[in-house]
Amino acid sequence: MTMFKDLNHKVAVITGGSKGIGNAIALRFAEEEMDVVINYNSDAKGADDAVKAIEQHGGRAVAVQADISKEEDVKKLLDAAVDNFGGMDVWVNNAGMEIQEPTHKVPLKDWNKVIDINLTGVFLGTKAALNYWLDNDKPGNIINMSSVHERIPWPTFASYASAKGGVKLFTETTAMEYAPKNIRVNAIGPGAINTPINAKKFADPEQYKITQSMIPMLKIGEPEDVSDAAVWLASNQSKYVTGITLFVDGGMTLYSNFQGGRG
Ligand code: NAD
Repeated sequence: MTMFKDLNHKVAVITGGSKGIGNAIALRFAEEEMDVVINYNSDAKGADDAVKAIEQHGGRAVAVQADISKEEDVKKLLDAAVDNFGGMDVWVNNAGMEIQEPTHKVPLKDWNKVIDINLTGVFLGTKAALNYWLDNDKPGNIINMSSVHERIPWPTFASYASAKGGVKLFTETTAMEYAPKNIRVNAIGPGAINTPINAKKFADPEQYKITQSMIPMLKIGEPEDVSDAAVWLASNQSKYVTGITLFVDGGMTLYSNFQGGRG
């Protein structure tokens, strides 16, 4: 059953859609009868499985390999949407990664990699999508996957926090720049979500408990919590919303150390 009728037969590109949050968004969009381009970098099986799952339910999807930090690769995603489904309406810049290192020891190549994927990748996806809509005089909708770390500092993850902080202002700037063209740009700021990026950390029960205790709702989120927010931002139900970061974090951004009147 679809919840957002205006999304039926709209076309979405989702970067990093073979697993985790991007995968959940692809499946959720398909439930709304959207056609989806599922981008992957190395996990071809994850992307193919998602395509099969969507096709089994009568939907349409294609998997496309692309490194979203490379401009020529990003173009492949737009081409796949237009060639297979006749256009492109929603672009989700979801792909991301992190490297943990004390800042004074971060090799430049690691810094560049984190910025290239988490921030430059968002720019390249946005650029491709904007040019398509402007050339074709169409409205558009961009959703950037930011993080609670666009707001909360994260020692030993300076490159990641810097990239996500950049995503916040990039989202706000492009939202303002293209609002007169009927193109909306929003971000989602997930908190701690149960995905492969956190698999190692959450496999340690002690670490799992520590993270849980930092969340006022006292539970780790699921990828579907984020895809439920994404589908709303993609739909007309959010038609007057642009330039926001919608935090999906169980309250993590609320300074949980002050819980119960501490401090
Ligand atoms: P994940 O590791 O499961 O998924 C990340 C995806 O990005 C993978 O499919 C990976 O292959 C893809 N990717 C990485 N580099 C790429 C590249 N160069 N080209 C194409 N794809 C590439 O992690 P996730 O938790 O699903 O993360 C999705 C997004 O959510 C990321 O932007 C991440 O920073 C953000 N986020 C996640 C959490 C969390 O707790 N899981 C919290 C805040 C923000």
